[in-house]
This record gives sequence, structure tokens and C-alpha cells, in this order.
Amino acid sequence: MEKDLSTNPFDDDKLKEECGIFGIWGKPEAAAFVVLGLHALQHRGQEAAGIVSSDGDNFYRERREGLVGDQFSVGGPVEKLKGGNAIGHVRYSTAGGTLNRNIQPFFADVANGGIAIAHNGNLTNAVAIRKRLVQKGSIFYSTSDTECIVHLVATSSYDKIVDRFVDALKQIEGAYSLVALTRKKLIGARDPLGVRPLVIGKLEGAYVLASETCALDIIGADYFRDVDPGEVVVISDEGLESYKPFPPQRQRFCIFEYVYFARPDSIIDGHGVYEVRKSIGTELAREAPVEADMVVPVPDSGVPGAIGYAEASKIPFELGIIRNHYVGRTFIEPSDHIRHLGVKLKHNANRARIQGKRVVLVDDSIVRGTTSKKIIKMVRDAGATEVHMRIASPPTTDSCFYGVDTPEKKNLLAANYTVAEMCRFIGADSLHFISINGLYRALRQNRRDGTTSRYCDACFTGDYPTALTDRDSTVENAQLSLLAV
Ligand code: AMP
Repeated sequence: MEKDLSTNPFDDDKLKEECGIFGIWGKPEAAAFVVLGLHALQHRGQEAAGIVSSDGDNFYRERREGLVGDQFSVGGPVEKLKGGNAIGHVRYSTAGGTLNRNIQPFFADVANGGIAIAHNGNLTNAVAIRKRLVQKGSIFYSTSDTECIVHLVATSSYDKIVDRFVDALKQIEGAYSLVALTRKKLIGARDPLGVRPLVIGKLEGAYVLASETCALDIIGADYFRDVDPGEVVVISDEGLESYKPFPPQRQRFCIFEYVYFARPDSIIDGHGVYEVRKSIGTELAREAPVEADMVVPVPDSGVPGAIGYAEASKIPFELGIIRNHYVGRTFIEPSDHIRHLGVKLKHNANRARIQGKRVVLVDDSIVRGTTSKKIIKMVRDAGATEVHMRIASPPTTDSCFYGVDTPEKKNLLAANYTVAEMCRFIGADSLHFISINGLYRALRQNRRDGTTSRYCDACFTGDYPTALTDRDSTVENAQLSLLAV
């Protein structure tokens, strides 16, 4: 059964999304390139994918639940997506009932033409905007925050579609990297803090926009540059124009993209993601050395950190845990019950290698603690004599409101327990999280230097760089509903 949309559609933490976006302008069979780009971005969202293309006259749209490779194979829906310009989106939401109508890109016929929009990030004032628009008569079709942007474009009093788009951006808060397609233009935009990534590539005269550089590599496009925070790029047959409609601010790129979310072969803001993860491992070895026989990653996310730890500590790196690659990320499973099963489905101890050994286990993060607890038990059951857990991120103490799915604060292990208590809970002999300064050192940044610190680390510090309008108005909402009762 679908949710009751008459109340706040965003108050369910299950509706937060992580996503990947891609766009291409000026390439015959553009949709086929989008399929490849989305396939490279599949790690950013595995629940659903959608593409909108245009041949300059008409728009064509296909949206499907499932993996890009399964849903958009050659001969399938791609054939219907005509034209040399297209955008696409991969979506991840933990919602048990993925609503088909939430699958992006969204499309609307607005004054002066159609517009399709795909969004990575999360708006922090979407509920407020939605309430305002609904009161004025807007009829929402989905439960997604992104639809607010479509409505704001539609209701803008400006003439030109790019002006309408910028007008909409000025009303939204939070994190957004966007690609939008009109009959005449491909638009890319990043929020003023540049929380989510977006890069520009070039392919034989065609322009490409993508969440990560790995999506440029797959189609053989050259990396041109990142879209700047607060920048709007407008691509047309005349080339690329850049607009900076916001006052400049210090960038606050999501540090968790480096820790976990982005693909290791992507280069973000000049840093190779793999290199950063390896350096975190090196820092971890410095901060928390331990005598052991081997360094074992929790695959795949712990691998680069474990390589860095092993190199720095001179303890051999071993594949003491083997991952079955045919199951999605642990988080994809919606309920705790299934998540427990998921861990067993996904990882197995390499008994012959770890029996009788002292093991340093490296993983990227502890969120609820479920994964670590299961894995440590599994490693011990396979005969490891000691298990020392090393985590490549600081304790996750606060929820993300910018598009990375994290549980509510009350369900975050580190928000409720000390490191010593967490160590007991997960059953490790020792536990160490990289310090926040160590994480910045891995990025060659000094956290406290106001001129260079340029990351959002709110999930580790609670230092949110934007207003959290919707979150902060929940008390008021609750009182209103109490009054209504
Ligand atoms: P948990 O069992 O809740 O402690 O989950 C921790 C594991 O989930 C880590 O090993 C991460 O690899 C993974 N993880 C952390 N954050 C996310 C996220 N936002 N989405 C999906 N997986 C995540």
C-alpha cells in the first residue's frame, strides 16, 4: 500500500535517497551513452533508473525499477529514447515500497517548453516549499523532494527557462547536484556549497555531465572540469555558458563521498578516491598500531584502507573475508531482519587463512553496528585468536540531511555509546575510529584552517552547513497535528 501523502511526505527517514546523475548533449544515440554512464554510477543507486531524451522536438522517457544493465539493455527501452540529447538518473531509497512515480528524471510541460530534471542530494526545506505550493493549488505527483524544483520552475514568473530554473534554485536549501534537459539546452547545477559532486566531460564535441569521473571513463569522454559550487552551466549547440547566480561561499563537499560513497576509481576535486582511502588506512596505522598477523579488509569498502594500513604497519594484507558480489550493499535491504541475513549472504570468512591468527579488520564505517558485530563473530568462529577493528571514518554520530542515507540519530551506535562500549558491543579486542583530524590529513587538509577546510563532515561532527528548515519545524508540525486531534 502506498503512503498517505496528506501528511508530511518527508518525515519518514526511509524516503531519503542517494543517487547518480548523467547527461549528454550533442551525440547521436545519446540515450545509449546515458545507459553506459548510469551503469558506471550504479553504486550510487540500485533501486531504479530512468532516462529522458530529446531530439529537439519531442521528449522520450523510460523509467524502470531495477539495475541499469537489466532494465536498459540494447534492444529494450533504449530504442524508444530518440535523439542526440539525454539525461538519466539512478536512484536508491530504502523505502520498502519504492514508488514508481518517484523514479527520476521528472518531466513537466511548463510555459515555454518541457523540462526534465534529475537530482542527486536532498533538499532541507522541501516540506516547507511543498506546503506552500500545495496551499496555492499545486498538485504533487510524487513524494520526492525533487518535484518541488519542477513546480518552482513551472510557477516562476520569469520568461526564459534558464531564468526560471535559477529562480527555482534560489528558493531551495540543502544539497543538490542537478542535470536538466530542455529542447534547446542541457543544464547542470550544483548547490552553493557544492555538497554533492558533478563533473563536466567532453566526447568528440559532445558535452557530458556526470556525478563522478568513472562515468566519463566508461564512454571514453575526457574530464574537462568540475562544475563549481553554486555554478549553473548551460550547454547548447552554441557551446557551454557558465552562470554564478549565488554569492561565493566556502565549499563544503561531502567528506563521506571519499570515505564510502564514491567509486574508488573516480577523481573528485583533484583527489583520487582510492588514494584518499589508502591514506586514511595509513593514518589509521599511525593512530592505532597493534601487533597482529594480518590486515584483513571487510570487502569491498574496507579494501583501500586495509591496503594503506598494511603498507604502513608492515603487517601482511590478506583476503581473510571473501565477498559474494551477487548481492547488493547491506543497506539495500530494508528491514533489520533482512539486513541480518544480508550480512551472511554477502561475506564469508576465509577459514584456512585466518585460523589461529591475530587479525586487524578494516571497514569504512560503523553505522548501526550490525555489520561489524556479525563479521567479527564470523571471523572468530573461523578461528581468529584476536580481532582488532579499525574504522576508516570517525564515529558516525549524526544523521545526514544531504542525500546520504543514514538512520535517525537514535539508531546510530556512536550517538549513543562510547568507543569502549561500542567495542564491547561489536565483540572486538580493540576498536579505533580514524580521528577527524586524521581524516583531514588523508585529504591533505587542515581541518581548523578556515581557508582550506572545505568539507561537510556533519555526520561526524553535527556541524551542518545549511539551515535544516524542515527538521527544525517538526516540533511545530507535531503541535499542529496534536491540535488537530
Ligand atoms: P552497520 O551494520 O549499520 O554498522 O553498517 C555499516 C556498513 O554499511 C559499513 O560497512 C558500510 O560499508 C556500509 N554503509 C555505511 N554507510 C552507508 C550508506 N549510507 N549506504 C549504504 N551502505 C553504507
